[in-house]
Amino acid sequence: MPDFHTGSCLCGAVTFKTRGDVREVVYCHCGQCRRQTGLYYAASNAMNEDLTVSGGENVTWYQSSQKGSRGFCRTCGSALFWKYEGAGHISIMAGAFDTPSRLVPGYHIFCEDKGDYYEINDDLPQYGKSSPDILTNTE
Ligand SMILES: [Zn+2]
Ligand SMILES: [Zn+2]
Repeated sequence: MPDFHTGSCLCGAVTFKTRGDVREVVYCHCGQCRRQTGLYYAASNAMNEDLTVSGGENVTWYQSSQKGSRGFCRTCGSALFWKYEGAGHISIMAGAFDTPSRLVPGYHIFCEDKGDYYEINDDLPQYGKSSPDILTNTE
């Protein structure tokens, strides 16, 4: 198994490589993630120093909350990153990883805010708001 992961946006203008292990995938059902994605956000993450981005000048950062920012490709619109001011890690959209992704499902957060047009039908843990491990301030 390679000790890294690679991925890209839809158009390929932005590519990335992570070093070492990445976090299990967290599914966020908050209103911001719902609006950005049309469904929910599925993201792994990596330590800042373990992520290398090529074509980073093509990433537009939208500050979606007081400390949260969302990075997306300015050409194709793919949601790619989420970062929290001052955090040592950065979230990376699971769908942006090249396959086989070797990503592992984790748990759901902000289930109280999920869209009313789908159900969560797996056995993963569900949190109504955030989980103890996640930095957020969507309120
Ligand atoms: Zn793109
Ligand atoms: Zn969210």
